[in-house]
Amino acid sequence: TLPEITAVRIAETMEKRGCTIIAVASGKGGVGKSTVSANLAIALARMGVKVGLVDADIYGPSQPRLLASEGQKPLAEDSKMFPIIGAGGVPMLSMGHLVEPGKAIAWRGPMAGNALSQLVDAHWGDAEVLIVDMPPGTGDIQLSMIQKHKPAGAVIVSTPQDLALMDATRAISLFEQAGVPMIGLVENMAGYACPHCGEVSDPFGAGGAESAARTMGMPFLGRIPLSIGIRLASDAGTPPATADGAEAEPFTAIAARVKD
Ligand code: ADP
Repeated sequence: TLPEITAVRIAETMEKRGCTIIAVASGKGGVGKSTVSANLAIALARMGVKVGLVDADIYGPSQPRLLASEGQKPLAEDSKMFPIIGAGGVPMLSMGHLVEPGKAIAWRGPMAGNALSQLVDAHWGDAEVLIVDMPPGTGDIQLSMIQKHKPAGAVIVSTPQDLALMDATRAISLFEQAGVPMIGLVENMAGYACPHCGEVSDPFGAGGAESAARTMGMPFLGRIPLSIGIRLASDAGTPPATADGAEAEPFTAIAARVKD
């Protein structure tokens, strides 16, 4: 019968891969990819999804700071690491946990690929979903992610300008060429949230990313305004999605769409 077949397939997939991998990617750095990854993981966890977070950004691993686990060292057993519990109770592992804080990571392709495998093939327990914060761009880590770990889908984060400059488009086409389905596009730093009244104004206009997503035939997951509150909460190791409130809302809405 159909339900049995489905159950067998799910079991096979779980055994093969442990859990579903969602890659969070961007065309370039500084667009808020790590901020979106952290808050997406926390919001999914608060919705009851068993989620883990992998910080694969070798150029600037920022998840230990975002999830307040800086300086911690993961324990290991059978040469497999155990995740660290970060802010919001989210199990996490970061490239930043493998090196001294503040030290530059100067790994060539194969070493970076091995480090990525160590983070992904860790003791993730009963995690159903692994959110992977990818390095920006389209380099070696992206290729080994796609070829070795076969993500179930990709979320692309971009700013309105990034889209206009086609940086995001390159990241999208890398995943599409490899047959990784697009979960959708998140527009970050879209409009400015007034710190006094909370009203969002649009100095560069609005709606560009949504129509660009439509043109590219991919879902639009939502927009997050540029907000001082988001930056302060992130820097303090308490990402907005850990609490209820206006600042958490866009992330919760995006997580609900990803979950579907
Ligand atoms: P990336 O991972 O793409 O390099 P980050 O998530 O590290 O980008 O974000 C870069 C900086 O911008 C961080 O200081 C972060 O706190 C800030 N930031 C990200 N998104 C927002 C936002 N919507 N409003 C205000 N600051 C933001």
